[in-house]
Amino acid sequence: MAWRILTIWRSDRKFRKFGLILVVSLMLVSLMVINVHPSPAQLRPNRSSSITSSSPSLIVTPTTPRLGDTLSVIVPTTQAPVVQMTSKTGTKSYPVYDLGNNRWRAFIPTTPLTPPGTLKIQAQIAGVAEIQSKTVALQGRSFPTQRIWLPPGQDGNVSDWEFDQVDAFKKTISPDKLWNGSFRRPNDGDISTTYGIRRYYNGVFADDYFHRGVDYAGDEGSAIVAPAAGRIVFMGYEKDGFKVHGNVIGLDHGQGVLSIFLHMNSIRVKRGDRVQAGQTIGTLGDTGAATGPHLHWGLYVNGECVDPVAWRETGLD
Ligand SMILES: [Zn+2]
Repeated sequence: MAWRILTIWRSDRKFRKFGLILVVSLMLVSLMVINVHPSPAQLRPNRSSSITSSSPSLIVTPTTPRLGDTLSVIVPTTQAPVVQMTSKTGTKSYPVYDLGNNRWRAFIPTTPLTPPGTLKIQAQIAGVAEIQSKTVALQGRSFPTQRIWLPPGQDGNVSDWEFDQVDAFKKTISPDKLWNGSFRRPNDGDISTTYGIRRYYNGVFADDYFHRGVDYAGDEGSAIVAPAAGRIVFMGYEKDGFKVHGNVIGLDHGQGVLSIFLHMNSIRVKRGDRVQAGQTIGTLGDTGAATGPHLHWGLYVNGECVDPVAWRETGLD
């Protein structure tokens, strides 16, 4: 009770406008409550809370996220904090990067497979008792579904080698932020399949499947451009065994943000190239497991495929 009053008084500057009388009366009330409960065990946490409550707390956007959103967590602190998120499935840590001006940032990806409900986000500096925390309610979201009918034995010829290569790329984390502002559309074609669509295979709901990207139904041979600046860190060709992804490019935007482009006709860059936003990196095709010419663009954050809409429309800087 006393802690609460002290906390409100110290954290809310508006209270100071009420002048000396309010301040004195609050202090008197606090002292009275402390005197009623003078146990040292109660006073110890009270004192530390009062000291730290005037410091700013972490900021999470969006405030009402839904499945597929990327949470941006900004922690006002002088040193790199450890940022963790606890959901129904457990606790995970996320890399943090210095934004300057005593602010650090972590991205927390969500996907159609993340359980909706309360997410508890915490930030703590090693060796410092203070924990900044915030809870957000992750909203459910219904994604369209597709029904796929496969003849028996159709799914038996997928190579582990191909998926291992792509999975290794998706774990890329590099320290420098190379993107700036909102992402561009990577092809002029209309969107034919949106992010997150779920599937039934032969009538059975596929628990682990969701459409990990956005499909653009552009013309065969039309330009594919980098949606944001980055470095080409991964490349594969259908002729070398990329039977599902087809000709594929992996683009590292830095700080755990990656783009992957599938089913390309031609590739116009080399591994290690730095590319600018809007630069042509190849052309659209139907290589790999594609039923027709289209670009599949997947946007990954810390290893999870997120909905690129917010990245495209408002940007996450
Ligand atoms: Zn696709």
